[in-house]
Amino acid sequence: MTTMTQAPSRPTTHADWQALAAELSFEKGFETRAYIDDAFVEAVNGATLTTTNPATGEVLAEVASCDAADAEAAVACARRAFDGGAWSRLAPGRRKAVLLRLADLMEANRHELALLDTLDMGKPVTSSLGDTAGAVACIRHHAESIDKLYGEVAPTGDNALGLVLREPLGVVASIVPWNFPLMMTAWKIAPALAAGNSVILKPSEKSPLSALRLASLAREAGLPRGVFQVLPGFGHTVGRALALSMDVDCLAFTGSTGVGKQLMQYAGQSNLKKVFLECGGKSPNLVFADCKDLDRVAEHAAAAIFHNQGEVCIAGSRLLVENAIREAFVEKVLAAAERMQPGDPLDPASFMGAMVDDAQYERVLDYIRRGVEEGATLRTGGNALDGPGLFIPPTVFDDVTDAMAIGREEIFGPVLAVFGFDSEEEAVRLANDSDYGLAAGLWSQDIDRIMRVTRGLRSGQVFVNNWADMDQTVPFGGVKQSGNGRDKSHHSLEEYSDLKSVWMTLAP
Ligand code: NAD
Repeated sequence: MTTMTQAPSRPTTHADWQALAAELSFEKGFETRAYIDDAFVEAVNGATLTTTNPATGEVLAEVASCDAADAEAAVACARRAFDGGAWSRLAPGRRKAVLLRLADLMEANRHELALLDTLDMGKPVTSSLGDTAGAVACIRHHAESIDKLYGEVAPTGDNALGLVLREPLGVVASIVPWNFPLMMTAWKIAPALAAGNSVILKPSEKSPLSALRLASLAREAGLPRGVFQVLPGFGHTVGRALALSMDVDCLAFTGSTGVGKQLMQYAGQSNLKKVFLECGGKSPNLVFADCKDLDRVAEHAAAAIFHNQGEVCIAGSRLLVENAIREAFVEKVLAAAERMQPGDPLDPASFMGAMVDDAQYERVLDYIRRGVEEGATLRTGGNALDGPGLFIPPTVFDDVTDAMAIGREEIFGPVLAVFGFDSEEEAVRLANDSDYGLAAGLWSQDIDRIMRVTRGLRSGQVFVNNWADMDQTVPFGGVKQSGNGRDKSHHSLEEYSDLKSVWMTLAP
């Protein structure tokens, strides 16, 4: 169903990507309707939402804007599919085959999928291509693992047989954010589908396009009717309806801590559905004076915050530097930041793209103003670039304290807060002085220190002498107000399945 007829098959240059973008038509062929019960349909109320390209301000498409009536229809269909067993009781090896087909189709359409995320939310196209590869790898990983998992036989006496079976939960509603639209979707749907659930995906209202394309690919791959549905729309309408549904068994959420808290309330007000949350962060990156190659570390420290315009849950937004090297190190970070300026997201040379929308753009600029008012030292950036696109350059504040808003709150933009410390204890105390606990980085050559600090950090993940190096094999998630579960790796299957204990009494 692709609309890109003349597209270069392997775009590499800025001109190639511009040509691809020019050929993509949302008026003909591309589905902008919801995908419910094996059909693309208008929202019951006929409403649409407008999605725009934040790098140009141009309207991209009018997309169906679902609400409670659509949620009800999708939940009923998902339940029928689950109870019917065409997927939930299919042999895992056969589910694997379908999911591998889906991964192959995604890979074959990776340029279009990457382009959709770039146009929709402003991220550089090289970054979107990386996300697409990550999404494909995630689907393959879970597809491949599902027919290699065994249940348990409990250590009972001879008079009984105790079995521990792992079963899918039923209907999973997956509510995802806009910053990595396709990749966050894959992290949720891959283990949920592999485990045998029926999945309803609600993409962010700011970035629904790749999810709709994925619906076509899932259908082509052979996912049975009702097993995967996509409901674009707003959080307070269709998202809320899914969260309050009495027939949704699990909410799998990635997004802000505030909305995560609301979802837990909705679960309590309805059927006590399982709520699995991946939320925000204010991640500390600790640089000790004994680390090797300060130039390389500074490059990584800058990329840790400026990658994806800082719109990253695990952005290394708090840089904690040992005072003995702070001055020299900050100079190197500033030099690295200079090389990471925003540009046209369709240009493969752009390190940063545009902020996702006006609200996010204004929010980031407001935090920058507050940083100045609160007395932090603005070392670079601070002013938005001229429009029409929503571009904010790398911004670095030094002399930040943990009393300042820019030192405590998740900004979700290209704003780095630099703190100094004199001792290991002070560094760990500062790092942990946060409501969040998603990720932390640590740069040192001293293995004893590395292990001491790693154990001391209250964080779902710790990156040692790197920032955000990872693959599908390690779990991803947070502690404290960063969330309560894990994406990726076989541990994520635990979020989408339950244990059933079977006790058989045997004749003596
Ligand atoms: P958000 O919480 O505003 O929205 C996330 C999703 O929730 C969207 O689909 C939205 O429509 C929906 N939603 C909003 N209100 C809702 C409601 N009342 N009921 C049901 N659904 C509702 O977050 P965002 O702005 O899209 O994304 C940015 C946030 O996501 C940041 O805080 C970031 O740290 C977090 N994030 C976390 C991870 C992680 O893995 N921990 C990954 C990416 C992003």
